[in-house]
Amino acid sequence: MTDPKIEYNWEGTQWGMVVDVDRCIGCEACMIACRAENNIPVVGAEQNAMGRIMDWIHLERYYSGEYPNVTAQFVPMLCQQCGNAPCESVCPVFASVHTTDGLNAQVYNRCVGTRFCANNCPYHVRKFNYFPPTWQAPLEQQLNPDVTTRKSGVMEKCTFCVQRIRKAELGARMDGVNVSDGQLRPACVQSCPTQALIFGDLNDTKSAVSTYGRSHRAVRVLEDENTDPHVIYLRPEKLDHAF
Ligand code: SF4
Ligand code: SF4
Repeated sequence: MTDPKIEYNWEGTQWGMVVDVDRCIGCEACMIACRAENNIPVVGAEQNAMGRIMDWIHLERYYSGEYPNVTAQFVPMLCQQCGNAPCESVCPVFASVHTTDGLNAQVYNRCVGTRFCANNCPYHVRKFNYFPPTWQAPLEQQLNPDVTTRKSGVMEKCTFCVQRIRKAELGARMDGVNVSDGQLRPACVQSCPTQALIFGDLNDTKSAVSTYGRSHRAVRVLEDENTDPHVIYLRPEKLDHAF
């Protein structure tokens, strides 16, 4: 993590997330909700042990102290939806592209599985389907019809729950209004019991994400890589960890 000298240079609606590290208790509800919402396949312990992990959000754990006086800090890590995404410039088929509202989109039916994007992602949040997706019965009956399933040979990652974004935008447009702050919540944000995750328009100066994103605690991971992430972390009030 780097010092909170964040300079924003964004135009229009720019979806983003704030992660308050002090509020995260490591319960993993966000991981489960993301898995259910986005039809993330179960790869099993054997594939996991081989490094073929499949999740769109995971927890990084930092421990300090000596037993029995040990403390832990949990840092949820998901696609940072970078404005200067290193994954986009290396994709030979434009499967990894940027949207005007700040999302780092992944076009599954363009992906040819080179995995250049995963290799170039400094956050290690892109995941590859080594095999056709499977769900142990009866999990296959709870697949979300708003989200496609991916096939083997295709890269996938957090989309900021784009299906929810587009649904909220369409509903608001039909009502002739804008999506209001706090109305739109990705699955991980909705499920977090401690409200450690906050979602909204970073370019709306009155939004919660914008307000928190300009606080003295705001940092962006690997800011010095010039990736311009749209995920902003609020570092701990007590700094005895990796921040
Ligand atoms: S925003 Fe949606 S896709 Fe991204 S980690 Fe949260 S639940 Fe998963
Ligand atoms: S649901 Fe919230 S508190 Fe639980 S691990 Fe995720 S971010 Fe942390």
